[in-house]
Amino acid sequence: MTENKQKTECDRCGTCCLKGGPALHYEDRWLVQNNHLQLEHLITIRKGEPIFSLGAEMPEASQTEVIKMKGKGSEWTCFFFDEQEASCTIYKQRPLECSLLKCWDTAALEKVAGRNLLCRTDIIGPHDPLLQFIERHEEKCSLKNLGSLLSEVRQENSEQQAQNFLTDLVNSDLAIRTQAYAKYRFSLDLELFFFGRPLFKILQQFGLATREENGICSLAIDPSLPAARLGGL
Ligand code: SF4
Repeated sequence: MTENKQKTECDRCGTCCLKGGPALHYEDRWLVQNNHLQLEHLITIRKGEPIFSLGAEMPEASQTEVIKMKGKGSEWTCFFFDEQEASCTIYKQRPLECSLLKCWDTAALEKVAGRNLLCRTDIIGPHDPLLQFIERHEEKCSLKNLGSLLSEVRQENSEQQAQNFLTDLVNSDLAIRTQAYAKYRFSLDLELFFFGRPLFKILQQFGLATREENGICSLAIDPSLPAARLGGL
C-alpha cells in the first residue's frame, strides 16, 4: 500500500491522469451502455500484452484482457484529462478506479485492481459482426507466448524459430485487421478497441522493428537497444 501521511486530499496535480486512463470494471459498464464512453474512447490490452501494473518497475504480461481508457495521440495521458484546467472532463461519470484513487493512499484502488474487469465481449454483444474477426485474431495471433518469444529472440544465438514465429504473428495480425477493415471500414480509434495495438507497434518498445516489402513484414532487430524483458522472465 502506498501511503503519504502528509497529504489528505487531492490537490489536482493531474499526475494520475497523466500516467494513463483507468482499466474498466463491470461497475463501469453503464458508462458505455449510456454512451458516456464510446468505443472510440477505449483501447483493448490483450491477454499476454506487456503492461505496467500498479507500482511495477518493468512491464509484465497482462494476465487477462483489459479495456482501458485511451490516451491522447501517442501519449498515455487520459483522453479526458484537460491539461489547461488540470481537470477531468467527465468527472461526474468517471470510472470506478478514478473515483477510488487517492495517490496518498492507494489501498481502496488496490482492492479492486485486476478484479471484475470488462472485456470486449461484455461490451459489443454476441451478434456484433466484428466478433468473428476478433475470435479469429485471438486464435491466429494470440499474445500468450509473447513474453517467452521476446526473451528467446533477443538472445545472442537467437533461435531462428522464435524469429520466424514472431514474424508470422506480425503478418497474421496485420492481415486480419486488413480483412476486417476492408469489410467494415472502421476508424483507427475503433481498430484499437476491436484488436488492440498492432503487434509491430508492441515490438518496437522491445527494440524489434519490422520492415515491410510487398505487403509482407520481416523482423529487424536493433542490436543497439537493450534487450528489454518482461518481468518474471
Ligand atoms: S477519467 Fe478523468 S479522473 Fe479518470 S484518468 Fe481520465 S481524466 Fe483522470
